[in-house]
Amino acid sequence: MKLQFLGAARQVTGSQYHLTADGVRVLVDCGMFQERAFLARNWEPSPIRPEKLDAVLVTHAHLDHCGLLPKLVAEGFRGPIYTTGASADLVGVLLRDSAKIQAEDAAFKRKRHRKERRKGKYPVRPLYTLKEVGHTLRLLEPVGYDEPVAIGDGVSAVFRDAGHILGSAMIELAADDGGRRRRLVFSGDVGQWDKPLVRDPSLFAEGDYVVMESTYGTREHGPRGDIESRLGEIAGRTLDRGGKLVVPIFAIERAQELIYHLGRLVDAGHLPRVPVFLDSPMAIEVTEVFRRHRDLFDAEAQAMLANHNSPLGFPGLVMVESTEESKGINSLKGPAVILATSGMCTAGRIKHHLVHTISDAENTILFVGYQAHGTLGRQILEGNPKVRIHGRLREVRAAVERIEGFSGHADRTALLRWLGGFQQAPEQLFLTHGEEDSSLTLARQVRDELGWKVSVPEYREAVELV
Ligand code: ZN
Repeated sequence: MKLQFLGAARQVTGSQYHLTADGVRVLVDCGMFQERAFLARNWEPSPIRPEKLDAVLVTHAHLDHCGLLPKLVAEGFRGPIYTTGASADLVGVLLRDSAKIQAEDAAFKRKRHRKERRKGKYPVRPLYTLKEVGHTLRLLEPVGYDEPVAIGDGVSAVFRDAGHILGSAMIELAADDGGRRRRLVFSGDVGQWDKPLVRDPSLFAEGDYVVMESTYGTREHGPRGDIESRLGEIAGRTLDRGGKLVVPIFAIERAQELIYHLGRLVDAGHLPRVPVFLDSPMAIEVTEVFRRHRDLFDAEAQAMLANHNSPLGFPGLVMVESTEESKGINSLKGPAVILATSGMCTAGRIKHHLVHTISDAENTILFVGYQAHGTLGRQILEGNPKVRIHGRLREVRAAVERIEGFSGHADRTALLRWLGGFQQAPEQLFLTHGEEDSSLTLARQVRDELGWKVSVPEYREAVELV
């Protein structure tokens, strides 16, 4: 039995693991590389023969776990792709959006190259198109949590709730190899305990080999504080002075968590009833997927449903689909909440809302997610007195706030808690999906504290599992 690490090896993105056992070939995840330094890997031909794969198993609907599926299909993969029902729906939303962004990027690059009369480093065609996304989505086979799926001769998989985003899974693979039954556990992205809407991460008692993410291998989220009361405080202050609260959002999970908290604050009378605009067609589509799969919600959200309260809807919530409606928000006087994509203010409708709100002291710009270096979001968060939006410098007079603790990832303590579920040391633990230093430091700690055999694989490293 052989396991090869084709991504998320000493880096955070590009999750992809290739397992061969007694002639059965399986890929776990097929993620896109998103760190600037590794973008070229997206364009390299697959190092395996996609047409020979028996199946691809997808842990969850984030691009760094499923973003290269259409390329794999274009290279000859014929399916099936197993993932949970909620993930299958979200993968559809995500890949269509990804193809659109890539088409726009390619068009932009072509234009720039023409203008500058030069050739760029990467091809100017999109990595894949909507047509290839269509072919990919037809190969999806939704599976339920905790139901064994037969992959091939002697190989089966079980998906368990990862508590990271809706539909997210950890995957347990059982494989017969030379007459011995071996069990492999892939953590996918490990969620945080006690997050709203999603359930807690599953624990595993047994595993011969374990592949675990280590995004926060060296970091603690710190006291989480009460996100909801912080949100209530910031929103209350802004709305009371007649201002608008503008929140750049990520379409999956963060948007729905905010709606959940805002709904509870409105229901409890902690916030006035003002219009709350969800201004992102993609976030609206994702919210619909959440509502469709409400059976996956955690106990608290289930209790709200049982009381006929929707965890994802409340009086005042307005779904903004069209561009005209979106523009209409800007002529609206008086207090309101505006949730719009993109999460780092690099594109999309949020930029238009910032143009209209950022220079008025009564408004608040609230950040609830990571802002990468160099993005407009980061510039605002860092307190620049002026920022450039749509080609013009704008004065930042609005209040700028931030709420931390929304992360979907387990921190160092929670990762160790997850490892603590195993009743016996596995033969080997592989740490992936983390920056090199982070993975190496956590590896040392697990070796020292638990006495386990731990390694941090290199990109494309193949390990013989016995
Ligand atoms: Zn993820």
